[in-house]
Amino acid sequence: MSTRIRLDDLTSDQLDELYATNQRLNRRAQRLESELAAYRRAVTQWEISERGTYIPHSSLRAIGKASGVDILGSVRHLKHFQRAEQAEAAIARVRNLHHQDGDHCAICTTDFGRLNAPWPCDTIRALDQPAHNAGPSVAECAQADRNWDVQKAGE
Ligand SMILES: [Zn+2]
Repeated sequence: MSTRIRLDDLTSDQLDELYATNQRLNRRAQRLESELAAYRRAVTQWEISERGTYIPHSSLRAIGKASGVDILGSVRHLKHFQRAEQAEAAIARVRNLHHQDGDHCAICTTDFGRLNAPWPCDTIRALDQPAHNAGPSVAECAQADRNWDVQKAGE
């Protein structure tokens, strides 16, 4: 520890230096408190049980954002998850566009009935076709997704 200067003996420059240091430390504390709050918000989404800890993707995303590290980009499994999310969003947009208007599809039926598409239209029927039965169900995929982090932690 350096020798302490008595307050009455401080020069104006030394006092300025002390104020600058104080300001710098206050800004640092504020930045760290803000980062800590972001981590705490992300961790509140975790599910911790006897079986293990499940960390939702949104939590990983929030931690990555707070730490400035691209966590999701480095995990192949999560890239697939993001692609599935994007595909689901695209399907939702198509379903929003092709909506029922009376007995017809609002988007596939033109004025004066020249193009007349009874509800559900071909697009909606194509979306509603059941997926092939060879793979796991959506519920099974969701469960596998939840177990993945637990299994990875156990490796
Ligand atoms: Zn349609």
